[in-house]
Amino acid sequence: AKDAGRNRSVMFQPSMRSELEQRIELLRDVRAGIAAGEFVLFYQPVVDVREGGVAGFEALMRWAHPEQGILAPARFMPAFEDQDLSLKLGDVAFESALRQMRDWIEAGVAFGRVAVNISAAQFRSGRLAEEIQERLARWNVPCDRLTIEVTENVYMGWGSDLVSDTVRRLHDAGVMIALDDFGTGYASLANLRQFPIDRLKIDKSFVQNAEDEAIVKAVITLGSSMGMKVVAEGVEDEAQLEKLIAYGCDQVQGYHFGRPMPADEVPGFLAGFKS
Ligand code: C2E
Ligand code: CA
Ligand code: CA
Ligand code: CA
Repeated sequence: AKDAGRNRSVMFQPSMRSELEQRIELLRDVRAGIAAGEFVLFYQPVVDVREGGVAGFEALMRWAHPEQGILAPARFMPAFEDQDLSLKLGDVAFESALRQMRDWIEAGVAFGRVAVNISAAQFRSGRLAEEIQERLARWNVPCDRLTIEVTENVYMGWGSDLVSDTVRRLHDAGVMIALDDFGTGYASLANLRQFPIDRLKIDKSFVQNAEDEAIVKAVITLGSSMGMKVVAEGVEDEAQLEKLIAYGCDQVQGYHFGRPMPADEVPGFLAGFKS
């Protein structure tokens, strides 16, 4: 029996261990990368198709890895799922976005608003609204230059009262609230009325799938009739753009207009932007 146990462990442990080890190693590398300042924000333009200009930018996390180059979140997702690391990345996101906004304001760069993505872990302290307001004050950035993006599942799922209380306080202070990835989770239409949502972001999976046209159309109609602006993600070509405009979509974001770019490319992008 002892031998069988040993054999079994010899046969099954290596692969299991390597998966676990890989995860531990990744989390350790991320922790070291955060300490070394390797996590940076890229900025993707959001275009207002009614007014014809750049309404703002979404801040998206990138790992400027010393050996592997610029990595998107898909390459370090376990870090966003780890409570401690996701709080640390949240700090990095806010501090870098606010420092950047301060620099742009001082340099006269007309960046509009910056949208920062929030993870579930960041709500847990119960102090997120105060923390964000303190940071805005510390960097001397007006509340109305900031949007926070909360995914539908974070919003509706975990600790819903805490989340809605937090976003309401931020909304009342002038921070714009965007409901991200709308349609992919389990928000009900009644939820939409209960929460102070300024922006409804249609997930790119709907925008890019021609069979989902009716859904896209319905979401735009719904959002508009409830007084929200509707933002479509993942717009890659002219045909998608034209349909969205025809349906009355307010804002669009996607490779058709611009990929997420390093902060220092933003002023040049704005200068060269033609709608
Ligand atoms: P998301 O918030 O839904 O962000 C939109 C994603 O769509 C981004 O992926 C963006 O690069 C991508 N995208 C934009 N336009 C197009 C397009 O035309 N075509 C295609 N194929 N993709 C497009 P990205 O940057 O890889 O980020 C993935 C996800 O990681 C984000 O999805 C968000 O959930 C998460 N994330 C990124 N940065 C942060 C952060 O600072 N904090 C938190 N909590 N989550 C973040
Ligand atoms: Ca987002
Ligand atoms: Ca999204
Ligand atoms: Ca998404």
